[in-house]
Amino acid sequence: MQFRERLAERVGNPLDWHSAHKSIFVLAIIWLLILGYLVWAFVVLTWPFASAEVRAEHVMPHLPWLLGMLGLTTLFLAGSWFAGRKHPDSVLHQHLCAQWYALVLLTLAHFTGLWSLATGVILCGAVVVGFMFLHRTVVFAAMGMAIALHAALTVAMVRGLLPDGPMLGPGHDPDGSLNTFWVTSMYIFTAPQLAVLVGLSYYILTRWRQREAEVRMLSMTDPLTGMANRRAILALLKRELEKSQETGLSVSVVMVDLDHFKELNDTWGHQTGDAALSQAARVLRRELRQSDHVGRYGGEEFLMVLPGADDRGASLLAERCREGLEAVSVDAGQERPLRVTASFGLCSNHHRRDLGQDDLLRAADDALYLAKEYGRNRIEIACH
Ligand code: GH3
Ligand code: MG
Ligand code: MG
Repeated sequence: MQFRERLAERVGNPLDWHSAHKSIFVLAIIWLLILGYLVWAFVVLTWPFASAEVRAEHVMPHLPWLLGMLGLTTLFLAGSWFAGRKHPDSVLHQHLCAQWYALVLLTLAHFTGLWSLATGVILCGAVVVGFMFLHRTVVFAAMGMAIALHAALTVAMVRGLLPDGPMLGPGHDPDGSLNTFWVTSMYIFTAPQLAVLVGLSYYILTRWRQREAEVRMLSMTDPLTGMANRRAILALLKRELEKSQETGLSVSVVMVDLDHFKELNDTWGHQTGDAALSQAARVLRRELRQSDHVGRYGGEEFLMVLPGADDRGASLLAERCREGLEAVSVDAGQERPLRVTASFGLCSNHHRRDLGQDDLLRAADDALYLAKEYGRNRIEIACH
């Protein structure tokens, strides 16, 4: 767990990496891939058990190709590193690395036989991971190039202009059975790539889900008070009203507006106003039951949603909140304690189940208006 956390901290979210860093990552994969092929060629040429299966004359001509591709990849890596310092966000990095990835993959696939299932899986998997990781135009462009080249190679092979899987020679033993070495080599080539693709897509999707949860949370939370924002509290009210229709239990809404808040801001400054708002939010949350909801409805207005409460129950809860607010003094560094009071407008669907969300809110707002008119720091109940 700790290792995973440390890794996540270091690696960050691949989705947020700069374009240049993404391309360096892809180029590093290509580099390792070609190195893997070179090691394989070395094994084939030097180990007797392997060289008995594959003819050296098929492998030797491709060594300069492999070395050339490794050199070019190293150059691209260095280029991305330097260019990335000046233009880290240019999508050109991704275009270059994706085109190169596709080209290398196709070339190596051609050397070793194009028609293997494992190669096909990688070609498809690379596209899927590519869509998650890279810009979509990059993937489309590289895919287009790869398909065109693949078609050209196929035509060339069918017409006998190019051999199929020249590096491995015949894929079958003289008796017609599939050459074991041929098959195992194919998996040696493709397994590391599959592991990288699966690992990368797993990691990206995990971070993706985390980010989605964070974004969802942010979209529902008020940053100042940490409580539900207007969107979230209205969604909760909608859900509670639906439940109320099913269960027959009543729902009450209470609109809360802090008194003379503009004056407080003007006298003590906006920062003190913010502190008072946060403290008021804490008091409301503290005084309500676990099953109740409260959210910041507007500037210094809160909306409480009280499932199962009728007029009487809701007014008792509102009274508890009113007293709680009155008792609290805002600590904002001023000499004398700063008091905050609020007015409350309440409406319940206890007697009128046909009242919808808008009706309840309107009635609670009207009641709040009356509470203000009758002197503030009080509760008014809407009568139907
Ligand atoms: P009333 O008793 O009639 O409600 O008077 P009021 O001054 O509270 O009413 P009014 O709606 O005129 O003023 C609300 C004030 O709340 C105005 C605005 O500056 C302040 N306010 C709204 N949002 C915030 C906020 O996020 N932080 C701070 N510090 N003040 C806010
Ligand atoms: Mg107001
Ligand atoms: Mg106010």
